[in-house]
Amino acid sequence: MSARIIDGVALAKAIREEVAAEAAKLAAKGMRPGLAVVLIGEDPASKAYVGSKEKACIEAGMHSVKIARPATASEAEVLEIVDQLNADRAVHGILVQLPLPKHINTEKVLNRVDPAKDVDGFHPQNVGKLVIGDPTALRPCTPYGVQQMLIRSGIETRGAHAVVVGRSTIVGKPMANLLIQTGPGGDATVTVCHSKTRDLPGVCRTADILIAAIGKAEFVTRDFVKPGAVIIDVGINRVDDASKPRGYRLTGDVAYAECAEIASAITPVPGGVGPMTIAMLMQNTLQAMRQAVR
Ligand code: NDP
Repeated sequence: MSARIIDGVALAKAIREEVAAEAAKLAAKGMRPGLAVVLIGEDPASKAYVGSKEKACIEAGMHSVKIARPATASEAEVLEIVDQLNADRAVHGILVQLPLPKHINTEKVLNRVDPAKDVDGFHPQNVGKLVIGDPTALRPCTPYGVQQMLIRSGIETRGAHAVVVGRSTIVGKPMANLLIQTGPGGDATVTVCHSKTRDLPGVCRTADILIAAIGKAEFVTRDFVKPGAVIIDVGINRVDDASKPRGYRLTGDVAYAECAEIASAITPVPGGVGPMTIAMLMQNTLQAMRQAVR
């Protein structure tokens, strides 16, 4: 068997186009969704992510605000920025790019974001809403993107056994919570695995849908995969590769080639879950605006 490739680039493009069309309709009524991104420090990867988010925002016809400060910015300064954005009526979504410099308390900053503008879905209020199945929850972009990939690729989650490897608050836990909700992209039977799970390959082999969010390059081998399973690879890992101009290549948490031989569908890295994350950020900004003007 050779797995169908789930094309995250194409799916993300479709979502971004839908968001742009919706934003254009709102613009005709004099309303414009706005996203603010806060970047503290000079981390090259963070700068690149922020650049992509700004570009996506402009392409979607949204109002884009970028606030950048050096790594020496104090916690009080960052909290002040968040307060100003909370009060700014042209801004419907606020994203604080992580990681923050070590002297800044990340939890304190994230909790300061108005939950109604928390397009990352990290505020405890949105986490709680997600758990209880409140549709006004702003959902964390990466697992929300995975759920959309499953829905839009026609992969039935209802009654399926989904195994999520990883229990982070950014990916694993919200992923599991989305999959157990009722409705499209939900109604799954979910098992969450982590570093203390016994017989991880054996548990993974019971999965109809296997979602890897571990942060270890090519950790999931064919021994983890039930023939015909769907594999979603959330991992993004840098692996040294002298043959590449940058000296490294990106790889997922799944040993792609060998797993693709036995899976029924699989996401590549790059070009899988990654592009979906930004698309869902745009979607969340639109949702935040709709809920704000309601
Ligand atoms: P974390 O490091 O926060 O969490 C990793 C999880 O994997 C933990 O729950 C950990 O278990 C588990 N784990 C680690 N080693 C093992 C092991 N040997 N066996 C079983 N479980 C293990 O990572 P994130 O959730 O933030 O990210 C996961 C991956 O997804 C990374 O590669 C990251 O780069 C990528 N990512 C991709 C995004 C995208 O847009 N595509 C967005 C966000 C992340 P324990 O809790 O026991 O330590």
